[in-house]
Amino acid sequence: MKNCLFCNINEVLIFENKYFYSVFDIHPVSPWHALIIPKRHLDSILNLSKEEWEYLQVAISGTIKNIEKTNFKKLYNNFLKKELSEKSVYFSKKMLSHIWINKKPDAYNIWNNDWDAAWRTINHLHIQIIPRYYGDIDNPIWWIRNIIPDLWNYK
Ligand SMILES: [Zn+2]
Repeated sequence: MKNCLFCNINEVLIFENKYFYSVFDIHPVSPWHALIIPKRHLDSILNLSKEEWEYLQVAISGTIKNIEKTNFKKLYNNFLKKELSEKSVYFSKKMLSHIWINKKPDAYNIWNNDWDAAWRTINHLHIQIIPRYYGDIDNPIWWIRNIIPDLWNYK
């Protein structure tokens, strides 16, 4: 689609196969934050074909394997050499000064916000690969378990 950001992406690829590619998020929540994006414009994960699902699984493991080999100081320093928006410069500098810049994640959130009400901002399917660390936030389950206030504490 002509006006879709993810149909017209021009970033360094982390991983690519027949149906998907992955890139680093230009507004990362932490240094390893990546996105896996189908090459065809697709609004929902529910519309993937059986073959695409198989390629998505390979894309997820291939992306994680490749980002764990990435030198993030070099990556964000290279971002700063490009012509970036003020917001992207802010994010890149924030990553460079972050204590986790050279720390391998302890785990990943691998998720998809399927449409607007699920907090999606670009309506072209994208799977988020979000690195997590022990102790990164005080209560890691609170924010997703609190959609209905006070129901987060199920234990
Ligand atoms: Zn698109």
